[in-house]
Amino acid sequence: MISKVAVLGAGTMGTGIAGQLANADVEVLLLDIKQTGVQPNAVAERAIKRLQDSDPPLLVHPDVLTNITIGNIDDDLNRISSCDWIIEAIVERLELKRELYQQINRYRKPDAIVSSNTSTIPMTLLTQDMPASFRQHFAITHFFNPVRYMRLLELVKGDETTPAVMETLRRFNEEKMGKGIVDCRDTPGFLANRVGVFALQVGIDETVHCGLNIEEADALMGRPMGIPKTGVFGLYDLIGLDLMADVVKSLKNILPDTDPFQQVSNENHLVNKLISEGYTGLKGHGGFYRRVDSRRESIDLATGQWRPYRYTPPSLVADDMQNLVLLTEGDTPQHQFCRRVLGRVLAYSAGLLPEVTDHPVPIDDAMKLGYNWAQGPFEMIDAIGISRFIHLLKDEGIPVPPYLAGSDHLPCYRVEQGQLQTRYVDTGYQTVRRAPGIVRFNETRRTLQPLSRNASASLYKLSEGVGLIEFHSKANALDGDSMAIVEEAALRAGDDLNGIIVHNDGLHFSAGVNLHRFRAMIEDRNWDGIDSFLVDFQRAVKALKYCAVPVIAAPSGLTIGGGYEVAAHCDVVVTHTNVVLGLVESLVGLVPAGGGVKDTLFRWHHRLGDWNEAAQKSFMNIGYGRTGTSPKLAAELAYFRPNVDRQVINRDRLVQASLDLIRNLADDYNPPEKPTFHWVGRGAFEQMQDFLQDQHSKCQLTAHDVVVGTEIARIVTGGDRPPTEISENELYDAERMAFVRLAKTEATHARIIHMLDRGQALRN
Ligand code: NAD
Repeated sequence: MISKVAVLGAGTMGTGIAGQLANADVEVLLLDIKQTGVQPNAVAERAIKRLQDSDPPLLVHPDVLTNITIGNIDDDLNRISSCDWIIEAIVERLELKRELYQQINRYRKPDAIVSSNTSTIPMTLLTQDMPASFRQHFAITHFFNPVRYMRLLELVKGDETTPAVMETLRRFNEEKMGKGIVDCRDTPGFLANRVGVFALQVGIDETVHCGLNIEEADALMGRPMGIPKTGVFGLYDLIGLDLMADVVKSLKNILPDTDPFQQVSNENHLVNKLISEGYTGLKGHGGFYRRVDSRRESIDLATGQWRPYRYTPPSLVADDMQNLVLLTEGDTPQHQFCRRVLGRVLAYSAGLLPEVTDHPVPIDDAMKLGYNWAQGPFEMIDAIGISRFIHLLKDEGIPVPPYLAGSDHLPCYRVEQGQLQTRYVDTGYQTVRRAPGIVRFNETRRTLQPLSRNASASLYKLSEGVGLIEFHSKANALDGDSMAIVEEAALRAGDDLNGIIVHNDGLHFSAGVNLHRFRAMIEDRNWDGIDSFLVDFQRAVKALKYCAVPVIAAPSGLTIGGGYEVAAHCDVVVTHTNVVLGLVESLVGLVPAGGGVKDTLFRWHHRLGDWNEAAQKSFMNIGYGRTGTSPKLAAELAYFRPNVDRQVINRDRLVQASLDLIRNLADDYNPPEKPTFHWVGRGAFEQMQDFLQDQHSKCQLTAHDVVVGTEIARIVTGGDRPPTEISENELYDAERMAFVRLAKTEATHARIIHMLDRGQALRN
């Protein structure tokens, strides 16, 4: 049992690990080296400040900081004697780590677990001077930055580590810390960095070789390949050019001369020059990209000079949906880049078998959980087709690794009798097994046929008879197709389905309705089209809310705007802890019109028992486009209901938690009763208008903020009329009418364009 943890080293990683332990409500002792002077704990104090100021926030709520006690190693190391797990996260220097282990061993209780967060130092070197009792309790726990958000934990067992220690670490990190665990052998860079750092180096190498500019390379080796849009150079800037240079150097030193990594590990003069000039990445003046005033500039790889940023949309595929075959077939330098990058990176991954693992799953998991790739390398090989991929390697002069050469062209994965199987090096296909309760829907989906499917969403039936609605449009933006599947699921409830879960495995559940559609309709002055889209949206969410079976939303990531409105119409939201819940329509000059205002008003009334106060709270929440970046923070805005909704720290457990809940609710389930509402009328409406004018005169709100705020005020109070009882449908109508009125304004049009073209809210 782990109930108290010490984290030694309060740098980037120690701070993040302590933060996530605090999020899990675990008691933490955070120590760093003693500073001379009046503030001996200054380093750990700075860590606390970083946790408070972090963006995206590393804490689920400021209150969880009470779980962390700070100190310094000179004065407070004896306090580790009360800890069950001691995590070493100090600088990557072998002799310092060893020295610290001697001290730890003096104070730790006999059964305390000790682990290192080292990225590169082999375990045998770390512990060679330590007694057997220490080695039996020692492992490597390799977290990824930022710890709250990166799902991967690489877990490395030493020759002498006991099974009980490994099991304790596995369970604790999986259940309490929300991690996806990948077991690794003690090989250099373990799995994610071994492939990920190689991929970055190859990306740079091939950008130069194929004569592309850095924007083109990032646009290709990003979304089209199922890699986050930071691509190569953007990711370098994010990680830090100096840190990357150190990581490359240390991998170069520990990998054998024959490893293909050596071909891309030479010092890069441009990188060295940038670092020496303070261009260490986002934390410095910039890196490969920089901002000068409001302009973006990029480095020209050929001249080393800065030039204006040129956005280069990928031209090889129709949009940024991944089609690896299309990317690799063609004669342009862009195609050549894709062929060579994919060829080298995927072949390198396959070349790691059997040395670092004997089957594809750990490497695929590591890249998906540690680098946020949409597919792992072996899944990408299957997507290209193994024969085609072997041809590609031969054409490009890249050696074909034995795992592929000896494969008889059999895929890395297959589905057999409803089970997903993967091909092992020696033993052939075996079923992919996950710990009980772990469901990754992108895996489950491969074993199912959809009941219904269109371009934006699908409806599946899980073995328990429960329907699962999956959004899968670009960025999971909601459109008519998405809502048609929602409505179809609701209509099948009872006959076909005994429960419904709305869930997907994307990084974000849904950031709302597809704004491109609205922009086009506004530019066509198609007001009836907008109205009928909203009518359809409202009909679908109403059908979901009042259908005959329990409905659970199981979101993770951004669940805002229309995405939140879908979740709000479910009986229960079983949400991942890393969620962003709220209504942000005002930022683009609109109001929520899928029942979002209506539902917010209902929730505040339910909580406060007073329609006037409920109207005020709803007006403020929605007017300012407020969101909660965790269930706890969302609860303060009534977007999460602590007595009804659930939170789950491990997103792999969302589906199982939803299924368990449906089983509990199904027996005597009754759909919710239709509520009635009360419009408080003129007095409150005028008060809100006065507030808007007052804020406008103080330059706190813009002219269009006042227009949008007035529409929100009108929906929640009923506007210029006496107090009235109203039905739910009247509120849906009020939302829709306000939406269309705003869509007709030039200022809303300008806000939408700004958001779509620049990704930022316009303050007009
Ligand atoms: P960092 O430089 O940000 O922080 C290291 C901290 O250790 C500093 O606060 C420093 O004061 C403290 N420290 C230095 N010497 C010490 C000593 N003798 N005793 C106690 N504390 C000491 O480093 P980081 O990025 O947090 O990395 C920490 C460990 O995690 C390293 O082993 C690194 O390889 C590994 N790691 C880093 C990342 C990453 O992305 N930064 C990711 C995974 C693993």
